[in-house]
Amino acid sequence: MIKTFYKPTSLEEALLLKEKHENLVAWFAGGTHINHFEFKAHYDQVISLEGLGLFFIHTKTNQTSVGAMVTLQKLADNSLIPECLRWAAFMAAPRTIRNMATVGGDIATGGKGTRLTPCLMALNAVVETADGKTQPIEDYVSQDSKELILKIIIPSSEIICVAKQLTLKANGPVLASTAVSMKKTEDPDLKDVVVAIGTIEGVPRRLEEIEKGVIDQTLADRESIEKAVADVLNPESDQFGSRDYKKHITSVAIADSIISCLERG
Ligand SMILES: Cc1cc2nc3c(=O)[nH]c(=O)nc-3n(C[C@H](O)[C@H](O)[C@H](O)COP(=O)(O)OP(=O)(O)OC[C@H]3O[C@@H](n4cnc5c(N)ncnc54)[C@H](O)[C@@H]3O)c2cc1C
Repeated sequence: MIKTFYKPTSLEEALLLKEKHENLVAWFAGGTHINHFEFKAHYDQVISLEGLGLFFIHTKTNQTSVGAMVTLQKLADNSLIPECLRWAAFMAAPRTIRNMATVGGDIATGGKGTRLTPCLMALNAVVETADGKTQPIEDYVSQDSKELILKIIIPSSEIICVAKQLTLKANGPVLASTAVSMKKTEDPDLKDVVVAIGTIEGVPRRLEEIEKGVIDQTLADRESIEKAVADVLNPESDQFGSRDYKKHITSVAIADSIISCLERG
């Protein structure tokens, strides 16, 4: 149970509190995960991020910056945000949760819980953390230690992106989140391709073998894409579906997305 709720009003104050209490204290953003009964770590002290000025969304010099405390609802509602990410935020949770859960909290939750990371990977987003580092989102989510996220930077580019969320019924349970993006390079035959998955395994990741196959056109038709995707996925059977079922529906969704991007590109 949370007994002490620190409310720093500056980043410096927040970092000092974190340093002082080390592993006994957690960052508190929207609180939807940290207050959930399935949240594994138990903290009796938390540091609120509310007073750190991380609620902004703005676009300048070919990029959009999203503060870590922007809620999923604000993200879904904002026309500066790429359509596929607005959709991923909208699909992530019911409105009551969307009004509280934050972008930073979603990414830091990571593992099977993050709903936005695959789409952010497809948009080539980078994460800026309080230690001054800026790194691709795939690097951030694959690390164990989670530095405080300050903002997410999404480059503005002419990119085609399709995000999907595979659920057993409306509003979940979620079996997989997928995102595919393509950007034409100067050579019209070459494309930057990102294929990303989340939830179905553990940490979200890019399917680099599939990306290469699409670029070199060895994966150009639905059948070969579906087979190649199923071969690289490694889900576990559980009460929501067998391993084979999860591989099948995810590979169909990714093949649909790739073909849709190719047709639109
Ligand atoms: C059982 C379960 C079910 C879930 N179901 C859903 C669902 O249906 N839809 C959905 O969208 N999400 C779901 N989630 C995941 C979680 O609720 C979301 O990912 C949400 O976006 C978390 O955001 P928050 O702002 O509420 O984070 P919080 O609960 O405040 O924090 C979550 C974690 O992230 C850390 N953190 C928060 N902000 C930052 C930051 N800026 N930098 C570094 N670390 C940070 C916290 O210390 C904490 O460890 C679920 C999680 C669990 C465990």
